Amino acid sequence: MARLCSRCHHRIEQSDGEEIHACAKCGAEAGLEEVVATPFAMRLFAVCLTGAVLVAGSAIAFAVV
Ligand SMILES: [Zn+2]
Repeated sequence: MARLCSRCHHRIEQSDGEEIHACAKCGAEAGLEEVVATPFAMRLFAVCLTGAVLVAGSAIAFAVV
């Protein structure tokens, strides 16, 4: 798991059972937010969107040429 400092956006890797009380970079003790992994459905959507953009892009390129 990782935490993200909301003050300086420094990413802190946190191992299991380890407690992080302050940001290693700016020393902020508050605002260390847990970084949640991107849900699978969200990733799938991003892949589909990227694919659609690529297909549309090449279709337009062929239409122009
Ligand atoms: Zn920080």
